[in-house]
Amino acid sequence: TEACLSAIDASGALNAFVHNTPEMAREMAVAADERIRQGRAAPMTGIPLGIKDVFCVRGVPSQAASRILSGFKPEYESTVTQNLWNAGAVMLGKLNQDEFAMGSANETSCYGPAVNPWKAANGAPLTPGGSSGGSAAAVAADLCLAATGTDTGGSIRQPAAFTGTVGLKPTYGRVSRWGVIAYASSLDQAGPMTKTVRDAAIMLGAMASSDPADSTCADLPVPDFEAALTGDIRGKRIGIPREYRVDGMPDEIDALWHKGAEMLRDAGAEIVDISLPHTKYALPAYYVIAPAEASSNLARYDGVRFGHRAKLAQGDGITEMYEKTRAEGFGPEVQRRIMIGAYVLSAGFYDAYYNRARKVRALIKRDFDTAFAEGIDSILAPATPSAAFPLGSTAQDDPVAMYLNDVFTVTLNLAGLPGIAVPVGQDKAGLPLGLQLIGRPFEEGDLLNQAHALE
Ligand code: GLN
Repeated sequence: TEACLSAIDASGALNAFVHNTPEMAREMAVAADERIRQGRAAPMTGIPLGIKDVFCVRGVPSQAASRILSGFKPEYESTVTQNLWNAGAVMLGKLNQDEFAMGSANETSCYGPAVNPWKAANGAPLTPGGSSGGSAAAVAADLCLAATGTDTGGSIRQPAAFTGTVGLKPTYGRVSRWGVIAYASSLDQAGPMTKTVRDAAIMLGAMASSDPADSTCADLPVPDFEAALTGDIRGKRIGIPREYRVDGMPDEIDALWHKGAEMLRDAGAEIVDISLPHTKYALPAYYVIAPAEASSNLARYDGVRFGHRAKLAQGDGITEMYEKTRAEGFGPEVQRRIMIGAYVLSAGFYDAYYNRARKVRALIKRDFDTAFAEGIDSILAPATPSAAFPLGSTAQDDPVAMYLNDVFTVTLNLAGLPGIAVPVGQDKAGLPLGLQLIGRPFEEGDLLNQAHALE
């Protein structure tokens, strides 16, 4: 814990931690030592963690990197962080992210972007990805042993791929959403960001639980995910979806994909070509459904209940109070999503956009169901269309180019499936590249075991 606290103090240039809690960390570390002395240690006992800002931690600023939540210190604890503290983990502080987890470069944060510890060949600062960019940067730079992330459309897996770390998005419902500031409730899922697949297995075991406070959280026992890492994947059938071979995919991503398939084949798996025919509709469906849910979730930030309230002029009424507060409190990307969401949900356009996107979502889920019913154990695909790109390259001027980053990751959020990004290779400049394995629902143990063969 002390080593992490010093590393964090020296890491200002990465802008990964946005709020440090050294006193809490030391108290928790002392308690963990005591617990170990008493022989009551769990695998996470004494492990210093960074927590993405989107998780509510009692008494600690929790703003989801938004100005509108400035000054908000929750009086309650998210179930995920409570589970981690119950296991004896140590809280180092809050990690940078995109505002309300909307973004793929950590550039929409009210704290400014987190920076990737990997540098471009010309020294230019690179994005650590988003939205869990601070988590990925902190794990890659050894500021913490592991971190929490959340993944609505790729926000755990893409930053993991950009920083050479491991990121696991669990099955929807494996982990409680209680106390995680909501973006798109039918897609959001928290998960571990770690250095190795084994660490991800251990940390998921501590994060997961059933939870009466989240009705979408599955009432299932939490298996021993670490015990599932047998190293034996002989006879597993791993699908390569032909629709993920998108136009303009760089050669090095293609080569990486081949390398991953070879590694799995060498370990005894059978590699089969499969089809997920509705893949090309995933991105547009996601960018209708996610903003629709966001516009509804973000309606609660009205200047009354949480955080920021604008200064009002003489004669301003409640409407002006809402308008000024929301105009000042939300950044441009969040405002764009609220407007898209309100538009696709409006009476005249609901059927044409939102309802159609929901139907497309059902078809995408059916593609996966069919593949699994035909005996596929997991699906191998790239995690991202490129290595980490320079900060400041697209964010404000071309939102659609930024959305295209999520082409390989959003499908499984729509289908509720687990997915893991694992570092498998490098691009020409030596930057890390990651592959993604997509698993059967609630079979994270099996998925982790297959991912282990890619390390
Ligand atoms: N980049 C995607 C978005 O901006 C995914 C974000 C996420 O998974 N939280 O919506």
